[in-house]
Amino acid sequence: MVDLRGQYDKIKTEIDTTIQECINSTRFIGGPVIERFANNLANYLDCKYVIPCANGTDALQIALMAAGLKPGDEVIVPSFTYVATAEVIALLGMVPVMTDVDPEHFNITKDIIRQAVSASTKAIVPVHLFGQTAPMEGIMEVAREYDLTVIEDNAQSLGSDYTFSDGKKQKAGTIGQIGTTSFFPAKNLGAYGDGGALFTNEELYYEKIKMIANHGQSRLYHHEVIGVNSRLDAIQAAILDIKLKYYKNYIQARQEVAAYYDQAFTEVPELEIPYRYKNSTHVFHQYTLKVKNGKRDELKAYLKEKGIASAIYYPVPLNEQNAFRGKGRLVGDMSVTKSLCDQVLSLPIHTEMDNETLGYITQQVKSFF
Ligand SMILES: *Cc1c(COP(=O)(O)O)cnc(C)c1O
Repeated sequence: MVDLRGQYDKIKTEIDTTIQECINSTRFIGGPVIERFANNLANYLDCKYVIPCANGTDALQIALMAAGLKPGDEVIVPSFTYVATAEVIALLGMVPVMTDVDPEHFNITKDIIRQAVSASTKAIVPVHLFGQTAPMEGIMEVAREYDLTVIEDNAQSLGSDYTFSDGKKQKAGTIGQIGTTSFFPAKNLGAYGDGGALFTNEELYYEKIKMIANHGQSRLYHHEVIGVNSRLDAIQAAILDIKLKYYKNYIQARQEVAAYYDQAFTEVPELEIPYRYKNSTHVFHQYTLKVKNGKRDELKAYLKEKGIASAIYYPVPLNEQNAFRGKGRLVGDMSVTKSLCDQVLSLPIHTEMDNETLGYITQQVKSFF
């Protein structure tokens, strides 16, 4: 699905040098490299504060803790997402309120949220799925109306631009009170190990997040609140800082792959190419087709035979996972989520794809139909 080796080969000298510098300095935890990366990412996102942490799941957990949510509080999440989004909610004793999603852009909307709100609802975690920003203008509008905290799960859409109705643009993850992301190797900005970060424009949240991620510590050995230990290590920060320089090119490479796929698949009536939501750019964490004739699994098996990887994100709605049995509240019949789980198929997409590979993949997909 990805080619991390090919990407490394192109920046090998820079990466090897920065790793060696980290080792020479022996500043493995904390220090100037992490600060530099956090500042550069904050500049790229046009966001006041970036707080690195150990992974995207921790980032979500820390965000919920910083938002001051308590056991029993309800948090609205889409049921068509990765488990991490709702897992941390349940882990903290809160109630995930699972909703259906929009059939075109796969994200939660203000109307869906409106149907889900109750007197116990305290927060929303919109997920910017596959590379596009959720309809944040409407989401922020209902959030204000019901006094809900908005924590954006931006593990998949780092760099996606959202355009408001007045023409103003903001990066995904910097619109709600807190945004989170993941630097898992296969994510768009991937480390060579685990990593994550939180974003906020509010100083109060920044202070809380910093404290919670560091054992609830205000100064050394003085602990104000129960926290966690969640750090990005210096070697990962150094690698990410190099890759961040090329991030715009990486997004462009992904968009070019998507354009190639689109052109090949628009003529296949059984396939629906990824919808482009007009208020958001698409950074194509995934290129996800809908297979409309019920043959998704056959297509996947056929491609495997031809040596082509493909993946189903996601085969099972959150609300059907055993882990969440009896733990959440369901809103609506989940008919959209269910049909997506049956239809979606994601094809290989990464920064190093050449036309020969793309030609082969598209030809094989077409030959199946
Ligand atoms: C990857 C991902 C996460 C979790 O990130 P990790 O770094 O693997 O913990 C959370 N939410 C979504 C939507 C993701 O895709």
